[in-house]
Amino acid sequence: MLAKSRATATVSKRPSQKGRQNGRKPLPVAVLGATGTVGQRFIQLLEEHPWFYVAEVMASDQSAGKPYAEAVGARWKLTTRIPESVARLKVRAPGDALKSPILFSALDASVAGELEERYARAGHLVSSNSRNHRLDPLVPLVIPEVNRDHIELLDRQKFGGGGILTNPNCSAIVLVMALAPLHREFGVESLIVTTFQATSGAGYPGVPSLDILGNVIPYIPGEEPKMEAETNKILGRLGKKGIDSAGIAVSASCHRVPVLDGHLMAISVKLGRKVSLKQLLAALRGFRPLQRMTLPSAPDEPLQIRDEDDRPQPRLDVDRASGMGITLGRIRPCAVLDWKFDALGHNTIRGAAGAAILNAELLAHAGRI
Ligand code: NAP
Repeated sequence: MLAKSRATATVSKRPSQKGRQNGRKPLPVAVLGATGTVGQRFIQLLEEHPWFYVAEVMASDQSAGKPYAEAVGARWKLTTRIPESVARLKVRAPGDALKSPILFSALDASVAGELEERYARAGHLVSSNSRNHRLDPLVPLVIPEVNRDHIELLDRQKFGGGGILTNPNCSAIVLVMALAPLHREFGVESLIVTTFQATSGAGYPGVPSLDILGNVIPYIPGEEPKMEAETNKILGRLGKKGIDSAGIAVSASCHRVPVLDGHLMAISVKLGRKVSLKQLLAALRGFRPLQRMTLPSAPDEPLQIRDEDDRPQPRLDVDRASGMGITLGRIRPCAVLDWKFDALGHNTIRGAAGAAILNAELLAHAGRI
């Protein structure tokens, strides 16, 4: 168990105590990289959160010192308004002392590594969405539905009272959610995955419009190795030196497409044994591992299965289960491997901010914060 955080909860009171639940007093949290694409999602998703409220925001020196609404300005791209309680918060500078026990990190990868470590050493629990620490042997890379036992790695970290926990890359999480029940029931030996990834996955301003409109770009720097390595860490087992890889052969091909939100992927899998369609569907439909935990962001039905020939589609299915559901469809035999199907997930919710919030809820549920 993580030692009690040195960071204390003595930050400004939440304007209202609305949303108190299960007798918990809402905890103040900070969002690092709060002005970016993922940072904005954190602000949006935390607005009505029953366990956490945004007490501090941090971004680069160019935003520091300004009220949040002014710093983010016209870059606010969500359809909901900036919450009033956050709009007036003064943006803190990188490295400023913070008081919230939980920090959600949506920092640019160029700075996330060092800043997250610094805050963990200062006693904060950092729930990070950035790639920097995901593959560190002692840093848990967690999807609560899949490998919540990996949070035990926090006990082996050397940050004093603090720690770092990460969520997967926005495409890896969609893949692993779809694979997890199959791996658990039948074993996954190898797979081929081809992704069609939304432009919001590149942050703001991201890919220039003249490059992506009416086009497909068959390369996303660093994405394919991330999918391959993260899948094997998440589906791996807790071992003496960290996580023992699941040893699944993964071949990923990643493409950027002119879609706003939602990463779609075509997956072909080879399983450890022959199974029928009925067995496959039963494994996928029965996957509700968080059912009894009442975590606020956990969907009742994490895998949503569509029977139509032309689903899932990003525009129609990306918001299922408030963006926390993974939609599967086109489940059919594969002439090369065993089975093939499509999977879709919201990249800035299930693939980023929502995932980090769910991870923090898991820690709270486990009594670690
Ligand atoms: P983004 O829109 O470019 O936002 C980056 C954020 O980092 C901004 O708040 C920016 O602040 C801040 N920042 C930049 N330089 C900084 C510095 N030197 N010190 C402190 N803060 C600094 O990027 P994003 O798409 O939100 O991605 C954020 C992280 O999440 C990245 O590590 C990315 O790989 C990861 N991620 C993104 C997605 C996605 O779908 N977009 C999904 C999964 C993971 P200013 O506004 O002040 O510059």
